[in-house]
Amino acid sequence: MKLPQTGGCQCGAVRYAITAPPRTVYCCHCTVCQTQSGAAFGRGW
Ligand SMILES: [Zn+2]
Repeated sequence: MKLPQTGGCQCGAVRYAITAPPRTVYCCHCTVCQTQSGAAFGRGW
């Protein structure tokens, strides 16, 4: 994983940067994550 990782909300109002490796990586299959990612599951840190 290349650091820092940057991200933000979809409207662009909030931006953030991750400067340390994540402790946990998980996949979420809820309908919110499916809708947001357009895939069968969402990936979170
Ligand atoms: Zn979810």
